[in-house]
Amino acid sequence: MQYNYDFEIASWMVMTVILLHFMFIRQFPSSKARIFGGLLLACMAESVFNILSCVGLANTALVPDWGNEMLAFAFFAFEGLTSYLIFRYFMEVCELGREGTQIVRWIGGLPYALFSVLLIATPFIGFFYYFENGIYYQGFGAAFGYFYVGFYFFLDGVLLFARRSVVDLRTKIIMIMYAAVAIGMIVIQYHVRGLLLTSVSNALIVLMIYLSMQNPREMIDSASGIGNESAFQMQLAHVLSRKDAVHVITVRFAKTERIHAALGIGSSNELLRQVGLFLLHLCGTSHVFRIENDTFSVLVPAPAGREVQEKIRERFRQDWRVQENRVMLYMDMVIQHYPEDFGTVPDFFGMKQFLFEQAQTKGSSAVVEMDEALAKQYSRRTKVEAAMLGAIRDRNFKVFYQPIYSMREKRIVSLEALVRLNDAELGFIPPDEFIALAERDGNIVHIGEQVLEEACRFLAKHVLSNASLGIRTIQVNVSMVQCLRQSLTETILPVLERYHIPPSMITLEITENVAVSTPELLQRHMGELAERGITFAMDDYGSGNANCSCLIQFPFKEIKIDKEIVWASFENPTARMVLENEIRIIHGLGLPLVVEGIETAEQSAAMEQLGVEYIQGYYYGRPMSETECLRHIRQCNVVPENYAR
Ligand code: C2E
Ligand code: CA
Ligand code: CA
Repeated sequence: MQYNYDFEIASWMVMTVILLHFMFIRQFPSSKARIFGGLLLACMAESVFNILSCVGLANTALVPDWGNEMLAFAFFAFEGLTSYLIFRYFMEVCELGREGTQIVRWIGGLPYALFSVLLIATPFIGFFYYFENGIYYQGFGAAFGYFYVGFYFFLDGVLLFARRSVVDLRTKIIMIMYAAVAIGMIVIQYHVRGLLLTSVSNALIVLMIYLSMQNPREMIDSASGIGNESAFQMQLAHVLSRKDAVHVITVRFAKTERIHAALGIGSSNELLRQVGLFLLHLCGTSHVFRIENDTFSVLVPAPAGREVQEKIRERFRQDWRVQENRVMLYMDMVIQHYPEDFGTVPDFFGMKQFLFEQAQTKGSSAVVEMDEALAKQYSRRTKVEAAMLGAIRDRNFKVFYQPIYSMREKRIVSLEALVRLNDAELGFIPPDEFIALAERDGNIVHIGEQVLEEACRFLAKHVLSNASLGIRTIQVNVSMVQCLRQSLTETILPVLERYHIPPSMITLEITENVAVSTPELLQRHMGELAERGITFAMDDYGSGNANCSCLIQFPFKEIKIDKEIVWASFENPTARMVLENEIRIIHGLGLPLVVEGIETAEQSAAMEQLGVEYIQGYYYGRPMSETECLRHIRQCNVVPENYAR
């Protein structure tokens, strides 16, 4: 028969280009990359032997029979190998774990072993093919080849289905396309017998894999030439699936902006490259990763963990040379242990962030190693986070109200809305604890919306309809993250409209440090809302970096003095002086003033002496549920007959 192998030659050329690219662009040395390299070479060899066989069979005068028999044998050998290697590649993609890998390797290896035995027997029994008078004939077992390929399709499909949760959509599409292309080629070849298409389907699958799953740029950080975050995630998943005990040491550089500014971006990149090289020499290529701009992680087998950690610390005690500059690099280091501390890749990342937050509270060049106490804190934090997410989803937050008492009017004039979270397992979770977490991940926006909605509902149902209660406003806390949102105005006003609440009945409390860190956006948002009649209170004045300029810069209509300062003023004459001066300034500006944290009659009297008009504290009422609060106001605000509002 005359064979047309033009497509084989074209496919071989395509695979050669892929091979050259694969060899010259640095690959992250993973087992996936090694199997891909093997697959590429096997496909190319299959293609070459296919072409040579055709040439040999067409030129029997030039090629001896034994030569043609050897070429056919080699072609079959590589054909068997490519199906097996494609299967092995997908096994890597599916991250099967150590036991899973063992079992699947056995199941997947058996057909290949059987194929090899039958191929070795073929020259003697004519299983796949036989030659007669120098002419090639299909053997009695030729159909086995189709079963063989079909079996691997089937196994690939089973793997894909069983591991569908870890395999991403792109990979699933590639695997399905591979099956479709291969089946299409088989059908065409069946109908057009002389047309050889084996290499076309091989070249297509290799190209699809190379462009999607094996793209080297997706694994290598271009600036430092070492593995990036994707490579790290892949390698960590691999280590976890094998259950190898490792220490993950992560270093993050502090004050890198200063270095960028002092050295210029080129030299500071050179510096990071040097750090990468140092870590590479210490731990080996497949163990070092640049997972963020200024963060490197190294994976170290557990027994060597301590030694490597010491060597890294030792190196960072010395300076680094970049051109003629000598630079000290400050870094925080966190250490996590597998399997003691974490079990999954997302677990690792959550814990890493937590450990770096701990490191930040310790000052510069901190080393934080996961231990039992930290593990407990982290576990509490993840539980609190889960409880908070559940409450956001189920709208399960409660809002309590704490009275703000007017010393002049001798009654409660407003309420502060304070969010409450009770969890079935953890019990009461203080807002300070979950608000900080919610601010970190942006969920505070949802909490804020729910609290505002709840407060408006309360106002509409009880307070507005019951004017004799004498409540003028409800004060709602607004966090920094909400202030940064472009849509602050759009999220607040519609809620008020829905419950027909006059904007003048809502005061938004903003903490002082918010006012300092985002001046322009905050000014705009406050301006927009103030125009509609909403008022603003500066919360926790005197805590953190007191900054009187905020009082000038922003349209605050009320100041709330932080309870810590108030408490300190009863203990310490200097704090007392500070408080007195603060009160004088605020009075001078003509702004109403609320003092927080008043717990006793003496404290209340002392504040009255200082001319404070509004008081919030346990002495005048703790935060209370709606019903309790209404009862409390009714008791407190007994309006005298001749009282004129
Ligand atoms: P904050 O805004 O300064 O709220 C006042 C806190 O002081 C409340 O704590 C209140 O219970 C407490 N407090 C009031 N008077 C006294 C007193 O006499 N003695 C003592 N020991 N404590 C007193 P709470 O409810 O635990 O809230 C803590 C913080 O959580 C709040 O401080 C606020 O920053 C935040 N927060 C509460 N609810 C919300 C909310 O809905 N949104 C936002 N963004 N933050 C909230
Ligand atoms: Ca507040
Ligand atoms: Ca406060």
